[in-house]
Amino acid sequence: MNHLRASTKAAKKFVKNGQLQQEAVSLLKPKHCRVMSTSADLESHSIADSGPQVTVPAHSQVVICGGGIIGSSVAFHLAERGWSNVTVLEQGSLTCGTTWHSAGLIGRLKPTITDMVMLDYSRRLYERLTNEGHGTGWKQCGSVNVARTKDRMVDFKRKHALAKTLGIEVHLIGPSEIKKMCPNLYTDDLVGGVWVPEDGVVTAQDVAMTLAKIAKEKGVKMLEKVSVEKVVTKQGMVTDVVTSAGTIKCDFFVNCAGQWARAVGKKTVPKAVKAPLHSCEHFYLVTKPMEGIDTMMPVIRDPDGLTYFREWSGGILAGGFEPKAKPCFHKGIPEKFEFQLLPDDWDHFQILLDNMLHRMPSMQTAEVRQMVNGPESFTPDSRMLLGKSPKMGQLEDQISNYFIAAGMNSGGIVGAGAVGKHIAEWIIDGEPSVNLWQYDVRRFVRLHNNKKFLRDRVPEALANHYALKYPKEEYKTGRKLRCSPLHTRLEVAGAVFGETMAYERAMYFNNPDDDTFGKESRPMWSWSKPCWFESVQEEYWACKERVCLMDMSSFAKFEVRSRGDEATAYLQELCSNNIASEVGTIVHTGMQNNQGGFENDCTVARLDQNHYFIICPATQQTRAIAWLEKHLPRNGSVQVTDATSMFSGINIIGPHAQQLLADVSDFPTNKSDFRPMTVNLIDVGHASSVRAMRLTHTGEDGFILYIPSEYALHVYDTLMIAGKDYGVRNAGYYALRHLRMENFFAFWGLDLSDKITPLECGRGFRTKIDDPEHFIGKEALLKQRKEGVGQRFAQLILDDFDVHQDLWPWGGEPIYRNDKFVGFTTTCGYGFTLEKMVCLGFVGERDANGKLVTQKNINDWVMDRGAKYEVDIAGVRFPAKPGIYSPKMTIQTLDPVFVPAPNRG
Ligand SMILES: Cc1cc2nc3c(=O)[nH]c(=O)nc-3n(C[C@H](O)[C@H](O)[C@H](O)COP(=O)(O)OP(=O)(O)OC[C@H]3O[C@@H](n4cnc5c(N)ncnc54)[C@H](O)[C@@H]3O)c2cc1C
Repeated sequence: MNHLRASTKAAKKFVKNGQLQQEAVSLLKPKHCRVMSTSADLESHSIADSGPQVTVPAHSQVVICGGGIIGSSVAFHLAERGWSNVTVLEQGSLTCGTTWHSAGLIGRLKPTITDMVMLDYSRRLYERLTNEGHGTGWKQCGSVNVARTKDRMVDFKRKHALAKTLGIEVHLIGPSEIKKMCPNLYTDDLVGGVWVPEDGVVTAQDVAMTLAKIAKEKGVKMLEKVSVEKVVTKQGMVTDVVTSAGTIKCDFFVNCAGQWARAVGKKTVPKAVKAPLHSCEHFYLVTKPMEGIDTMMPVIRDPDGLTYFREWSGGILAGGFEPKAKPCFHKGIPEKFEFQLLPDDWDHFQILLDNMLHRMPSMQTAEVRQMVNGPESFTPDSRMLLGKSPKMGQLEDQISNYFIAAGMNSGGIVGAGAVGKHIAEWIIDGEPSVNLWQYDVRRFVRLHNNKKFLRDRVPEALANHYALKYPKEEYKTGRKLRCSPLHTRLEVAGAVFGETMAYERAMYFNNPDDDTFGKESRPMWSWSKPCWFESVQEEYWACKERVCLMDMSSFAKFEVRSRGDEATAYLQELCSNNIASEVGTIVHTGMQNNQGGFENDCTVARLDQNHYFIICPATQQTRAIAWLEKHLPRNGSVQVTDATSMFSGINIIGPHAQQLLADVSDFPTNKSDFRPMTVNLIDVGHASSVRAMRLTHTGEDGFILYIPSEYALHVYDTLMIAGKDYGVRNAGYYALRHLRMENFFAFWGLDLSDKITPLECGRGFRTKIDDPEHFIGKEALLKQRKEGVGQRFAQLILDDFDVHQDLWPWGGEPIYRNDKFVGFTTTCGYGFTLEKMVCLGFVGERDANGKLVTQKNINDWVMDRGAKYEVDIAGVRFPAKPGIYSPKMTIQTLDPVFVPAPNRG
């Protein structure tokens, strides 16, 4: 007997039997499914053109590399939009990569609203195709996600709150209801769960084949046994795709090569395209039919137990996400890895098996049909890779017609429908209809594509799938890669670091005199008041009342130069604000796209007549250079350089900043000599050529010094020593965030995106919309100003919120106005001056279909006295007071409070 209860050794023996391995593949086929057991079988049933007689077209509007579910979905959606001159190239047979052995779970409860919108679209598509008579294996059995802990239940409640805004039916249930729905589950240790009746399962291969078949019927060429060998680019455009069956000229290329996508990227000439992903082994087992298993058994997810279960041919298919996964194929994927699996590994599987048997005790006597160990690709942050490929970390042409849709992190089946839809939009319309920044390949820098880094990081990315994702939780592997010159100093001072674009940034500082220093004795992550609350509070008040130093070295920095006035003309076209002010001035400006949305939000300092220094959020390093480069005059008259690593940044914040800088520099720092929003080249201590700007990103008075990196440590030490008299201290990014939020400052990537315009976030005054100069997006803004906007950035101050007891808002919470859903929060945090919880977010009226209604007087609508706002935090609604301007009491006073300035007579 090969019962699961039997020892691992016995199980190993059972599955290691060579014959079974053979037999097992065919056993994977459920009765209703068209899955073929071997590639030979598949070929005979394939809907694609295959074999040596295949000829490739001389030209195809779009060439898609990869005939898995993602490539098929992109082809399907292009064809649905009328683009049929499309060719899908598959090196083996359709679905032979990862798609064929997927477990086919279609669940929609995910951490962000964008995730949910996308997955809901996929689910509806698969249901539609089924209703139209196509075989997809779609079964609406619902899903039950169970919680072992209260914190997990909070996670479910947060997702429940999000799902409600989309009309997804979700019910919070208790252990007894779970037992009723799933009698074969052990429920005594459960806190509760969530029931999603319209979730379900598909047969992945059937969905992929259906999408491919419909695409083909609409004219798409689906070619098997044709591999992409080279992607030729000229002047930032793919021109030719060299294949094993000839060369195809194309207008667009889409890399949908799954775990091969990184290798396919390397086939690009003259310069490789980066697709940061790495394969990992991924497991499930299938049992023979078991007694009492209903075909409509809901999918069960026990994320605290790392596992999931679905019904499969009368038995159970159970898999999971182990805490320490196994990366594979580090040296390359074997040739002809088609319809293949990896060897089973029962030792590795043990942690999942133990949890399975615990949750579903009836499996103990089940007979194993097969263990499936299939490779799947994972990315450094466990989010998929979508979008146009920039050449990361270098100022080179981005390839404007090269798209990537890969790195699905074990969500490629449920993701495929939406991925295909949005990639098709991106190609046809020039951009996707929703903000996809969280998946955009431009969120990475070059080092993320480092193979060793990927190998070390992806096991954590796999584990992350079911891990409880607390707000602000950080990855542990592949850290300390990009460090500022101050890193060690800050570490010794108690810094707790977070990572952005692989850059280590001090988020807050533990007090080195505290007993708990360095011990992590308090839980690091939480849904409610975080362990860093008191530390950030101290840093906040030091910024308000004394002086703080913040290491801002991670900000992305660019130099723009020209011989004549081309740099000014170039930036005037890119920037919505007027940057052509006198030398030495600084301007905050957006860079808008054609729809008026923020491609970037930055600070532009005019260092010389034809020389500008641009500072952007750290997350913009790849995206900004791609945008800057895309619009460069082709005659080479303007040079753009990425200066991020050349300059370190130290922000001196607070009422004593002026005196502190005066003490260490010969440059006069009073406000008449060193005006706000101006830049001067100054000496600090013994260092020279420091670009000092009078501005902070928090609303306080102060300076930001951009220091040639080799002087940064000296400048920091000089400021720290001189600052002792002023009570100087370090402060981290959380303090910055709390200060700027309270002052109602929006930040790109958190509040602003390419779908938000300056008029929607109350920044019309920061544009040159009324000046004669043209800039990208001007027409869209003029139109919007005439017609009105659909949403408005607002600050919501929560009433009746107990900062010590209540669950905190972390961004992404639904906002209600007069009981009607009107938007989501973007950033939230405690306002130490206001002594209230503060949420920033966008609000707007929606029609019956959930579409924003354009309003001419949206400010009046937001501030209507009769309007009652509430923010939903994990199902509890907190009343909120709206505002559209910075609250007066948060504006800082210049009078130092605690530490008087020393008299140095
Ligand atoms: C064990 C397991 C369980 C899973 N369960 C689920 C689940 O329940 N739900 C879910 O949503 N997801 C699940 N997944 C993930 C899902 O299966 C994948 O994300 C999805 O199949 C990826 O599809 P793809 O099209 O990107 O890749 P693939 O299916 O691998 O397709 C890529 C194709 O590109 C082809 N190719 C590569 N190089 C070239 C070249 N040079 N020229 C031409 N063709 C090339 C390959 O041959 C391959 O067929 C699971 C994955 C595994 C391993």
